Amino acid sequence: RLVLGIESSCDETGVALVALPAQGPARLLSHALHSQIDMHQAYGGVVPELASRDHIRRVVPLARQVLAEAGRALPDVDLIAYTRGPGLAGALLVGAGVACALGVALDKPLLGVHHLEGHLLSPFLSADPPEFPFVALLVSGGHTQLMRVDGVGCYEMLGETVDDAAGEAFDKSAKLMGLPYPGGPHLSKLATEGRADAFELPRPMLHSGNLDFSFAGLKTAVRTHLVRQNLLDDTAALAAAETRPLLADLAASAQAAIVEVLVKKSLAALKATGLKRVVVAGGVGANRLLREQLDQACARRGVRVHYPEMHLCTDNGAMIALAAAMRLQTGLAQPTREPVFDVKPRWDLSAA
Ligand code: ATP
Ligand code: MG
Ligand code: FE
Repeated sequence: RLVLGIESSCDETGVALVALPAQGPARLLSHALHSQIDMHQAYGGVVPELASRDHIRRVVPLARQVLAEAGRALPDVDLIAYTRGPGLAGALLVGAGVACALGVALDKPLLGVHHLEGHLLSPFLSADPPEFPFVALLVSGGHTQLMRVDGVGCYEMLGETVDDAAGEAFDKSAKLMGLPYPGGPHLSKLATEGRADAFELPRPMLHSGNLDFSFAGLKTAVRTHLVRQNLLDDTAALAAAETRPLLADLAASAQAAIVEVLVKKSLAALKATGLKRVVVAGGVGANRLLREQLDQACARRGVRVHYPEMHLCTDNGAMIALAAAMRLQTGLAQPTREPVFDVKPRWDLSAA
């Protein structure tokens, strides 16, 4: 069976084809992605209306491309999966609209997928896929959650951020430092030139005794350091060559603070559940320092760590097609032939 997946929840349009054999794991046949980062960069963040319009322009050509690459045609598709939520309402409606239109035209079933389930299951497309059960550390632009995962559709929330997400902490700190959007990769690149102990930054809720996170204070602390250096909102000074070493130190310190909290809370979740496996998913999972420190800490404790392939950490269509395929395989999916445009901009994963 063949699953077509469409992702359009935020600022990347992703389309993919996954094959689901009668036995064995789902296999990625082809996938294509268009990132809107260049378009939104001028505004320092995602502009929802522009995002929706661009999804409209991209989604059909991308679908044609993945079909051509896999040597398949639309009538070969058995299930059409799309991101139902959470995300930007207008952006979600584009993917849902195209999926529903295809479903009606081809008389094929539809399945709306939870975007975070896509992130969470994306490591199953890697060369070294995990086995259930595991602890999942979901670290993306909009979410920071620790979950106990016992199978497809069995997600128990262990803890989550009470304010900003980890990716948001990277992005907002980077923006204050005058780095381009999205800041995470830029901040982490600059951090390689700096010292992580140069600035003292808070590790919020490290000793809170639960598995929740808080990152809003970090952004405030970064801001305070920039005020002290007379750099806040001074675009010219931030871009000046002589400022770079200081910014590199601040970037390294901010990254170290975020990563330390993520690693320690993941270890606490492993201890609390007694599990010996952790899966990292979401855009921040591409962060090199996080991977290094988590790998080291887990190796010492005999814990296996699984990541998505680097290019599947951020949003993509492959994870949406895969999540649909795994739901179908588990007998959890109830594909519908009714084209219902009920996207869910806010949607709790444990309710999915
Ligand atoms: P959500 O999945 O919660 O709806 P999203 O889809 O916007 O949010 P993702 O696409 O999973 O999030 O990830 C994007 C985030 O990952 C951004 O905040 C980006 O800065 C961050 N990110 C990507 N690469 C890195 C990196 N190497 N280091 C740190 N952060 C990174
Ligand atoms: Mg994105
Ligand atoms: Fe995402």
